[in-house]
Amino acid sequence: MIVGPCSAESETQILEVAQSLSRLQIVDFFRAGIWKPRTQPNDFEGVGEKGLQWLQQAKAETGLKVGTEVANAHHVELVLKHQLDMVWIGARTAANPFSVSEIAQALQGCDIPVFIKNPIHPDLHLWIGAIERLLSVGISKIAAVHRGFSSFHISENRNEPFWELVFDLKRHFPALPILTDASHICGKTALIPAFCQKAIDLEMNGLMLEVHPNPSIAKTDEKQQLTPEEFENLWKNLVFRHHPATENIHNPLDQWRNEIDVLDVELMEILARRLQTVQKIGDFKKQHNITILQMNRWKELVESRLLMGEQKGIHRDFLLEILQSIHQESIRIQTEIFEKEDTDSKK
Ligand code: PEP
Ligand code: MN
Repeated sequence: MIVGPCSAESETQILEVAQSLSRLQIVDFFRAGIWKPRTQPNDFEGVGEKGLQWLQQAKAETGLKVGTEVANAHHVELVLKHQLDMVWIGARTAANPFSVSEIAQALQGCDIPVFIKNPIHPDLHLWIGAIERLLSVGISKIAAVHRGFSSFHISENRNEPFWELVFDLKRHFPALPILTDASHICGKTALIPAFCQKAIDLEMNGLMLEVHPNPSIAKTDEKQQLTPEEFENLWKNLVFRHHPATENIHNPLDQWRNEIDVLDVELMEILARRLQTVQKIGDFKKQHNITILQMNRWKELVESRLLMGEQKGIHRDFLLEILQSIHQESIRIQTEIFEKEDTDSKK
């Protein structure tokens, strides 16, 4: 459960809502945005750096873990300096690969959880790409946050859920926890409880919700912020069924499995590309009457790859077996091309 106001507005507001939430003992992270990416230039853009001290104070007074949204390396630097417990990357930033890479670099080497929202438009590859960028610098505690997508489609929600994209993400990274940000999907408080129940029923792994001590005077997202009492009621009424979302996002095994999932996707892509190149070579050899097996080339290839592997600490016998297996498949593909020629010419 990641809960707290959309924006940090004042020290009193932060401390008041943090106190109410900590009493409930169901919140894992207290959230508050201090740098707010806004559509209009004159809208409230957050209190900035001073909000970090309020979050530190909220943590000291309540024991809640605290986090905020980061949109660039400078934000990360300040967040780490103030020892916050988590960060999230917002939907606008998640859509920008340069920004995500910059944030990933800045987070490298620290082990706080990083939550990555879906990019604002419905592009699953962009979301996956952002997660891969975080994984590629060794960040291990990652979870995705589903906050809905911008769409021309007019519906009761502020952002379209497009659940199929979330299921595809789960299929792509089976061990990746996914949280539902029902506040930004629904956009109005009346819809939030039912949406949270749906998320739980769909085995999402957690919720991100905006709670403000006095939503009607909130400086941002006033229609979608619950009062602490409304939040408490929502929580009490949630029904957890047989397979509640209890995956532990701090379980390192799950995180390493995420990494393996990503690496295997890359491995498959590289292998497929390599075999497609073999196909082109086969076609060319067939056209120019060149034999399939060129012993010298094969010998050189094996020697150089084994040397490369050795330098990377890969066991020689294991690598030789892989190379032989790939070579065998290359020969099979080329033989098939040549045999096809024979049959064609006999026709
Ligand atoms: C937020 O969490 O307050 C926020 C700005 O969300 P999003 O990036 O999903 O719009
Ligand atoms: Mn918000």
